[in-house]
Formats: sequence, C-alpha cells, structure tokens
Amino acid sequence: MSVERGTMFRKVAFLTCQVGPHSKVKINLSGCNFDCKYCFAVAKKEVGRTLSVDGLLNLFAESCSSVYGNLVNDVQLTGGEPTEDPGHWDRIRLGWWQSYGEEVV
Ligand code: SF4
Repeated sequence: MSVERGTMFRKVAFLTCQVGPHSKVKINLSGCNFDCKYCFAVAKKEVGRTLSVDGLLNLFAESCSSVYGNLVNDVQLTGGEPTEDPGHWDRIRLGWWQSYGEEVV
C-alpha cells in the first residue's frame, strides 16, 4: 500500500468502547457534506477534537488499554462521513498494520 501515514486530520466527535456481547470500538468522525434528514446533528457538524491519523490511533490504543486491557480488532468507523475522504481510512488501516501488525476488520 503506498499511502503516506499521519498527514490526514479529521475531527473526532467521540469514541465508544462496547463491552458486550463482544469487545468493539466505535469511532465517530464528524463533519459531512451530505444532507440526510435522519442524520443526528453531532455527526454532521464539525465537532470534537481534530486528530491526525497517529493521534486517532493513539486515542484508540489508550482507550482499549484502559477499558479492555488489550487491543481489540473489531472497529467501526462511522459518521460524520468517513468516505468523504477515502484516503483517510486507508491511512488508518496502514497505521494500524504498521503499529500492531494486525488487520482491522
Ligand atoms: S453523517 Fe451520515 S447520516 Fe449524516 S448527513 Fe452525513 S451521510 Fe447523512
């Protein structure tokens, strides 16, 4: 994969650690250029903390360590619209693979 790591910034509205029925982390980005009527406002507006890909990976790792005591590989990246910039998700996956040697599913 030939993407450059750590140069992409997105606003992160919140991160949720699910503990049952299985461990799963949900990351809500914010900001979107669509206009769905059913959208919940926090995801559409530019709210939250601006994080680089490395910053988001660090937040993910710290959250996993704090809640589970280990990393989990079930991650949901959701809106705001993650596909607004398709390269962002590629960078996160590459960063995950380089840092932890595992594939995010
Ligand atoms: S964040 Fe999702 S639901 Fe909301 S406007 Fe964008 S695409 Fe629609």
